[in-house]
Amino acid sequence: MDQGLSLHSDPISKDLYSVCVHCGFCLEVCPTYQQLGNENESPRGRVYLMKAAAEGTLPFDESVIDPVFNCLDCRACETVCPSGVQVGTLIEEARGQALSHIKQSGLEKFLHDLFLRKIFPSPGRLQRIRKLLRFYQVSHVQQVVRRSGALRLLPTHLREMEAVLPSVSRASARSVLPKESEQTKGVTKGRIALFTGCVMDVFFSEIHMATVRVALRNHLHVSVPKDQICCGALQIHAGDREQARMMAKHNIDVFLQSGADYIVLNAAGCGAAMKEYKELFHDDPVYRERAELFSSKVRDIAEILLEVGYEKPKSRLERTVTYHDACHLAHAQNIRSAPRELLRAIDGLTLIEMNDADRCCGSAGIYNITHPEMAAQLRERKLADLPHNVEVVAMGNPGCMLQIKAGLYAQGLTMDVVHTVELLDEAYRLEREVQ
Ligand code: SF4
Ligand code: SF4
Repeated sequence: MDQGLSLHSDPISKDLYSVCVHCGFCLEVCPTYQQLGNENESPRGRVYLMKAAAEGTLPFDESVIDPVFNCLDCRACETVCPSGVQVGTLIEEARGQALSHIKQSGLEKFLHDLFLRKIFPSPGRLQRIRKLLRFYQVSHVQQVVRRSGALRLLPTHLREMEAVLPSVSRASARSVLPKESEQTKGVTKGRIALFTGCVMDVFFSEIHMATVRVALRNHLHVSVPKDQICCGALQIHAGDREQARMMAKHNIDVFLQSGADYIVLNAAGCGAAMKEYKELFHDDPVYRERAELFSSKVRDIAEILLEVGYEKPKSRLERTVTYHDACHLAHAQNIRSAPRELLRAIDGLTLIEMNDADRCCGSAGIYNITHPEMAAQLRERKLADLPHNVEVVAMGNPGCMLQIKAGLYAQGLTMDVVHTVELLDEAYRLEREVQ
C-alpha cells in the first residue's frame, strides 16, 4: 500500500486521504462539527490536517493531534462520503502516530498501561476486578459509599455512570457457559463461536446468556472458546496499535482453531474492530491472510439471525420501543435493518423511530470519559430525540446502553434500556411459558 510520509512506523495511508475531493457532504452529519461549527473539527478538516501533517506541510503538533483525538470515530462521515474516504481508519492510524510522537504525562502513561495493556488484555485480571465489583455491589459497601457522599468527589459523568452500572453477576458468561452447546434439535444451521469480550462480560454477561439462548432457539450450534481475550478495539481507538495487534493475533488463532463457521458478537464496537482486523496487518504477509479469513466469519447476532433465517416468536410482547443505531453497527458495519426486522417480528411490540437514530450518543469507546463535555452534549441531543411515548430504548452496543442509561437517570426518566437480543429472548421465553 502506498503510504504517506512519516517519521514513525505504521504511517497514515496516502491512498486513503488522497481521495477526498473536499465536497463537504460529510459536514452535515459530523456530530463534532455540528456542535462546534469549526472546520478543523469536521471530517473534511481532519482529513486535510492529517494529509498536511503526513506530507510535512504542517507540524504534527496539537493543531493536528487535538482534532484527531476530538473525533468520536463514529464513522457517520463514511456513510455519506461519495469518495469512500475511510476517515475512521485514517483517524486510528493518526492516533497511532500521535501516541509515538507525543509525550504522555506520568499519570496518563500509567493509566494507559494499566487499563489498555495490563487489565483489558488479561482475562484473569478482569475476573479479579469483576469479583471486587460484585463484592462492592452486594456487600453493602456500595450503599455505605453512596450514603457517605464520597462519590461527590467524582466528576458528574462518572457519578452518573456509577449510579446506573448493571449488577455484576456471580460468574462471567465465559466461565459458566459450556465450551460447546449440546447438539441442537433438528438441523443445525451453522456452528457459531461466541465472542464474550472484556467489559461486556463483566457488566453484561446476561446479554451473552440471552444471545446463546436465542442462537440455540434458532438451531445454531454454539461454542465459547475459553482462551479468547478482549478484541483490542479500545486500544485501536486510543492509537495503541502495537498492543491491539498482539491481542488480535491471539483471537485470530483461537477462533480459527475453533473451526466455527461464524464468530458472533453482540457488541457493535468489537464487531467493527474484528471485521477490520486486516487493516492492522496490512504489511504482515502471514497475519493479513489469516485476519481476512477471520473477519469474513465475523457477524453481529442480528446479522447472523437474518442470514441463516430466524423463527418468529409465537408469543406477544406488548411494548412500545424505539431503536438507537450504535455508530459501529450502522456506520461501520452497515447493519440497520436486521435489528429492526427482529423487533418487528415480535407480535405486540410497537417500534417508534426516533429522529437521527444513527447520530452518536457520545459514548464512543472511552470518549465519554476522555471528552466528558462533548459526550454530555451529544447525550442531551440523543435524549431530546427519544419519542416521549416509548417504554424501552433498544440498541446493539453495551457502551451506548450505559451512556443512554446514565442520561435517563440524570433526567429522572424511567425508560428501560435493553439490547435488541434481550427483547427477542424475552419473546422466546414467553413462547415457552404459553406452550
Ligand atoms: S464527504 Fe468525503 S470526499 Fe467529501 S469532503 Fe467529506 S471526506 Fe472529503
Ligand atoms: S468519525 Fe464522526 S466525529 Fe469523526 S469526523 Fe467522522 S463524523 Fe465527525
